Amino acid sequence: MKIALIGRPNVGKSTLFNRLFEKRHALETAIPGTTRDINCAVIKWKNTHIELMDTPGLEQKHLVQPHARSSEYAQLEYSIQLQAQRAMEEADIIAYMTDFTTGILEEDRNALKMIRRKKTPVILVINKVDSSKDSLAAEGFEHMGFGVSFAVSAINGRGTDALLDHLALQAKRFKKTSSQTHKKEKTIRVAIVGKPNVGKSSLFNALLAEERVLVSPLPHTTRDPNNTEIVYKEYTFALIDTAGLRKKARVYASDVIEIF
Ligand code: GDP
Ligand code: MG
Repeated sequence: MKIALIGRPNVGKSTLFNRLFEKRHALETAIPGTTRDINCAVIKWKNTHIELMDTPGLEQKHLVQPHARSSEYAQLEYSIQLQAQRAMEEADIIAYMTDFTTGILEEDRNALKMIRRKKTPVILVINKVDSSKDSLAAEGFEHMGFGVSFAVSAINGRGTDALLDHLALQAKRFKKTSSQTHKKEKTIRVAIVGKPNVGKSSLFNALLAEERVLVSPLPHTTRDPNNTEIVYKEYTFALIDTAGLRKKARVYASDVIEIF
């Protein structure tokens, strides 16, 4: 499950990222498929794995595509903002961070308006709640309609256990639902291979004849009855009945059909 730490500059995203990464048995930093510009870490917490993404601070004024002739600086600022946007697209949960010491600013309200359109679940993380006195005061902090919020101190770790507990719980739920849908969607491709006359086609036909099996031709291969998709229990198999294997020497390059 992927979490993007999102918020305006200086609210403490990188500090929180580092704190969680250092103290919570981070496994690795490089996650394939994620861009190197976004700092990623896998955090292990209570038997779950949580992928955390640190992102550049949101600055909406830079989220407008600059004119081709505008400065290099403007282009760079824009591409930085795109990184934050991409992290939000990838995320299963957006952790919106704000700063207890500054309170909710106009930028927070604007950013949240934009984020809430995305339909990705959002939690509010109020950072820089460094002491028990702050914790008390944070209860009166404006919650902007959030059901779940976490008061933390990235600097000293206060409140981070509760945040990780919540994320671990979400990750467990997430794993359940995603593996269930995955099972149904993923097709397991099975090729029935063997020498001629061992009974490949008979086995193939026997599988299709099985009462509990739903049969349909493989997409794009309707002309070939030996390629068939079957649904058994919640699994989908693409069954391929191959022609008998023969010794290589007897297959000629010109005999394209047999090679296939
Ligand atoms: P980012 O721009 O959101 O990534 O913010 P940084 O992590 O770079 O932090 C910005 C500033 O806030 C730094 O000077 C941090 O030391 C400070 N900071 C971050 N977290 C905390 C915190 O929990 N408490 C306090 N008092 N300061 C913090
Ligand atoms: Mg940062």
